Amino acid sequence: MIYIIGSGIAGLSAAVSLKMAGYKVTVITKKVDGGSTPIAKGGVAVAVSVDDSPELHAEDTIKVGDGLCDIRTVRYVTQEGKHAVETLQSWGFEFDKGLRLEGGHSRRRVMYKTDETGGEIFRFLLTKARSLGIPVVEDMVTDLIVKEGEVRGFVTKTRGIIEDADKVVLATGGYSYLFEFTSTQPTNIGEGIAMAFKAGAVVGDMEFVQFHPTVTKLDGETFLMTETLRGEGAKVVNEKGERFLFNYHPKGELAPRDILSRAIYIEMLKGHQVFMDLRGIEDFQRKFPVVASYLARHGRDPKKDLIPISPAAHFVDGGIRVNIRGESSVKNLYAIGEVSDSGLHGANRLASNSLLEGLVFGINLPQYVDLQWEGITTGDGIMKTLKLVEDEGIDNTLTLNEIRKLNWENLGIIRNHEKLSKLTSVYYPSKSRPEILISYLTALAADIRTESRGNHYREDYPFKDPRWEKRIYFRVSNS
Ligand SMILES: Cc1cc2nc3c(=O)[nH]c(=O)nc-3n(C[C@H](O)[C@H](O)[C@H](O)COP(=O)(O)OP(=O)(O)OC[C@H]3O[C@@H](n4cnc5c(N)ncnc54)[C@H](O)[C@@H]3O)c2cc1C
Repeated sequence: MIYIIGSGIAGLSAAVSLKMAGYKVTVITKKVDGGSTPIAKGGVAVAVSVDDSPELHAEDTIKVGDGLCDIRTVRYVTQEGKHAVETLQSWGFEFDKGLRLEGGHSRRRVMYKTDETGGEIFRFLLTKARSLGIPVVEDMVTDLIVKEGEVRGFVTKTRGIIEDADKVVLATGGYSYLFEFTSTQPTNIGEGIAMAFKAGAVVGDMEFVQFHPTVTKLDGETFLMTETLRGEGAKVVNEKGERFLFNYHPKGELAPRDILSRAIYIEMLKGHQVFMDLRGIEDFQRKFPVVASYLARHGRDPKKDLIPISPAAHFVDGGIRVNIRGESSVKNLYAIGEVSDSGLHGANRLASNSLLEGLVFGINLPQYVDLQWEGITTGDGIMKTLKLVEDEGIDNTLTLNEIRKLNWENLGIIRNHEKLSKLTSVYYPSKSRPEILISYLTALAADIRTESRGNHYREDYPFKDPRWEKRIYFRVSNS
């Protein structure tokens, strides 16, 4: 039996693809509609138009990745994109006609369906999986079972020990929910990365967390105010109505994401409130039906009301180090999608490349599962070995929400040694609290990387340093 943990785009596409290739699969997931996929909006980047090519897509990906992309993975994913979406279409999924242009892309290559591409793909794949008879079971996986260097099974919260696994595929998403402000759902606190790390897997690139500049939360419902709103004339203002972004970048609202996130964050630190002013957008309802219905649900009128916004943790580049097959450094343990560190994104993610990554690694998995295990290579990266710490006897009563607040303030958009060392002194490589272990690894990597690169910004080292063109990896110590 192949067990797939997680029911986002990576897990469900792997499950359907494996089942159609004749394998026995079961999906175990903490919450069926948890994770980022059901709420992902924009689309899937694929080089399909006549004036585009996988090589151009690879070039754009590498440029945004700021010196840390794994070139082999980038070539593989950009080449395989077309096959992956064609396979999805052959299963019956229909994208809308046309391709969108997004920031960082030199061509129109974003395939989409309405304003809710992730949600549409998620619902389609879930229905497909169920129609094929694949069990999709809600339960939380807490630990992996490793014997003689191989993964043999895992432990779940309600079913206990499951030991009939031929392979385990982790597709548990990222850890953006470990930040107070986030665009993702509470399921995503990095549990998959924590259990793999404890089982001996190498993890890498943990310091690279992407922040989205414009996320709102009305009556507790988080919502991403898409880039296209700004492209169509939405303004970002403070409570005095000032368009302060021009003080930070000549392009104002159309500046790159990381600059916008920093500018809005600094304005908030100065005590200002920040809003999106949608009043200048003509024909709002027709152009942005999903945003319009969100606002209507919360009694806001885009013609009259200013919408409060904040930057928020959105995506993580790092995770469980894998090769292009999805193999980790522990035999029979695969990691696919956002939980993995495939090297596709390097130090920063090109928009719409993550749904693509999940789809390529998920759909192609049957090609690899019976091959001899290859595992990973770490090249000239820095490897740090850490000893796990038993939680008993440690006076640490931090709640998840306290951790999220600490991370937002000290491990967020603007980092420095003082803030990061505060975190590495309260967190530790916890054996039983994934939120502490993952926060520790992220803070430690961010502290070690004494430069600014991609989405990692250090105010005490504000420039990119060529000596840091290498990854930081962590592995558990055996002694
Ligand atoms: C608001 C938003 C908009 C986005 N828009 C885009 C976009 O337009 N294009 C793009 O390419 N990317 C986008 N992204 C990023 C993209 O959605 C994610 O990177 C991608 O969906 C991740 O898919 P996944 O299958 O790897 O993980 P997820 O979709 O995050 O799924 C993780 C799954 O793991 C399960 N899980 C977690 N922990 C456990 C556990 N311990 N035991 C069992 N199950 C567990 C969860 O329940 C969930 O089912 C967006 C992200 C957000 C938050």
